[in-house]
Amino acid sequence: MQSYFKKHPDAQGFFNGFGGSFIPPQLQTEMEKITDAYFSISKSHEFISELRSIRKHFQGRPTPVYFCRSLSAKYGGRIYLKREDLNHSGAHKLNHCMGEALLAKHLGKKRLIAETGAGQHGVALATAAAYFGLECEIHMGEVDIAKEHPNVVRMKILGAEVVPVSHGLKTLKEAVDSAFESYLKDPENTIYCIGSVVGPHPFPMMVRDFQRVVGIEAREQFMEMTGELPDNVVACVGGGSNAMGIFSAFIDDEDIALHGVEPAGRSLEQVGEHAATITLGKPGVIHGFKCYVLQDDKGEPAPVYSVASGLDYPGVGPEHSMLHELGRVNYASATDDETIASFYELSRLEGIIPALESAHAVAHGCKLAQANPRQSVLINLSGRGDKDIDFVVEKYGLPD
Ligand SMILES: *Cc1c(COP(=O)(O)O)cnc(C)c1O
Repeated sequence: MQSYFKKHPDAQGFFNGFGGSFIPPQLQTEMEKITDAYFSISKSHEFISELRSIRKHFQGRPTPVYFCRSLSAKYGGRIYLKREDLNHSGAHKLNHCMGEALLAKHLGKKRLIAETGAGQHGVALATAAAYFGLECEIHMGEVDIAKEHPNVVRMKILGAEVVPVSHGLKTLKEAVDSAFESYLKDPENTIYCIGSVVGPHPFPMMVRDFQRVVGIEAREQFMEMTGELPDNVVACVGGGSNAMGIFSAFIDDEDIALHGVEPAGRSLEQVGEHAATITLGKPGVIHGFKCYVLQDDKGEPAPVYSVASGLDYPGVGPEHSMLHELGRVNYASATDDETIASFYELSRLEGIIPALESAHAVAHGCKLAQANPRQSVLINLSGRGDKDIDFVVEKYGLPD
């Protein structure tokens, strides 16, 4: 049988009809060059051993799997965390940024370019650029620059140039346009680094492959700790990179339940109050690829909202769109309120402050544990919550 990874995506970058590449010809030429380079370079011994060394010595991998004694006692079941919050720079994002930057180096590129919304991808990419001595240009809407001041400062400290985008709504969408424009001015020396398993081919495949380390480690660590594989694996889904990273190691084990958790925000009832893309979206094309898209009455991408800014995207990875239609992954959602409760609960019961994105997965994982007291639940804790503390305390106050 052909392995899952050789079959998905196909040669054109489709995951059973999702994904592909719907972009202008000039950009298409660049994407094809990146695809060819990825297939030849990333399989070389030199590339693999350099990436391994970076993961171990710079990123601090492997990150541990941790058994949550108190949380398990409270909910029943056995709850475990894969600790991506302990990955260098505090989240899983550096896994694919280091891979993309290493590819850039092998291609002889001098400059990394990307857009960022809340700034997490920008910070991870600026970190990778500093490591490799590459220039880094991050496009960011002026509204987001004002909102995410600490991340703007971090990027500048790391040596990145932050380009403010002042047209339209001055947020993520305009930043994407601005970054692509700048990229097309000098594709010879530049590589555009996408921040999740989204965008045109080869990015959904490439980012997934760079994130597979999370699942490969977790599977081995879980087996070593417990003598078995987990019954459930849970991850939050924005674009879907941390989820694909951990799911990928368990996809072929049909008896392991995989759960993707989308942000239900303030309410699933109203457009603009959530970002539950697979739960409530329809197939469509966004940012150059086909996937489930949250759409308004006119079929345009709908406004989205989540308490976790890393999850508010109206599209989702094409591979998740396929896994949903195949029924291989269950897509659920967690509300803002459930997320905030889990944010404080994990902090107080286990001494781990989670990112608000990750707290969505924790909320759903605890529900699964409660409903299935004989089962184990492995949650991907995609990042740490330091970036969220001021916002949470100001908006929600401290619990008693
Ligand atoms: C960006 C981010 C996410 C969402 O991205 P995915 O591609 O869906 O994984 C989740 N958790 C953290 C901590 C993030 O920074």
